[in-house]
Amino acid sequence: MTFRTRFAPSPTGPLHIGHAYSAIVAHDMAKAAGGEFLLRMEDTDLQRSKPEWDAQIIDDLTWLGLTWDEPVLRQSHQLASYDPALEKLEAMGLLYPCSCTRADIRAALSAPQEGVAHDVYPGTCKHRLMSDRKPGDALRLHLDRALDILSHRDVRFEETGERHKGIHTLDPEQALRAIGDIVLSRKGEEIVAYFLASALDDVAQGITHVVRGEDLFDFTQIQVILLALLDQPIPIYHHHGLIRDDKGKRLAKRDDARAIAKYREDGATPEDMRAMIGL
Ligand code: GLU
Repeated sequence: MTFRTRFAPSPTGPLHIGHAYSAIVAHDMAKAAGGEFLLRMEDTDLQRSKPEWDAQIIDDLTWLGLTWDEPVLRQSHQLASYDPALEKLEAMGLLYPCSCTRADIRAALSAPQEGVAHDVYPGTCKHRLMSDRKPGDALRLHLDRALDILSHRDVRFEETGERHKGIHTLDPEQALRAIGDIVLSRKGEEIVAYFLASALDDVAQGITHVVRGEDLFDFTQIQVILLALLDQPIPIYHHHGLIRDDKGKRLAKRDDARAIAKYREDGATPEDMRAMIGL
């Protein structure tokens, strides 16, 4: 099996130093294994993704010396490819329409509930049926039902990153407490949400190893759940450590001061960048 990985940025802002680190780690792992490295633009958030960022990210990656083995895949160019998965989940009775705004969700969660992370959906629309779907409704996953279906199956995934290394099985309690009924599709805004599109494209692109930052480790379980429900193969995951500033603080992803373009403007070389991020 050829090692095949990818870097999958969302073109909603500049390539910052943390992204560059992730791209270089994935690229170098692929090359060291005699494998392949792909670039995928996760631009399903049609409002926040911009062609200018897409172009800038490609320019910065090229400047850093990275090359990819296939043309760039842009999710916005293949939105219909995600429909069969949504239809299958709907046929399994696992979707419901939701009209809650972010503000509604915040209000419903405002009474603090012990042990419940604040972005877990409170279930306001959970009783609604797909036949009652209105234009503009989002589609959410009945996570409890999904976990019931999978409780009869031995779903596991392998992690090779240092921090969580090993074979992981599903942890339904953690999933319900920390993830909840995620949005899978939102017409007009995010046609198909990150969790589903990203997991499906990892399979479609034949990715054997998903290499990405540790900050995404907690989302792995939900992506594995979706792939298992859809009878898709589950890749191996490798979550690398995050780079920190001199004070040990994790570098924020959206910190524009750390944009690669900024360092380039200031005269840094690609070698300086590699040295700076410890590679
Ligand atoms: N598009 C996601 C991001 O930019 C990364 C997805 C992934 O690597 O799985 O945060």
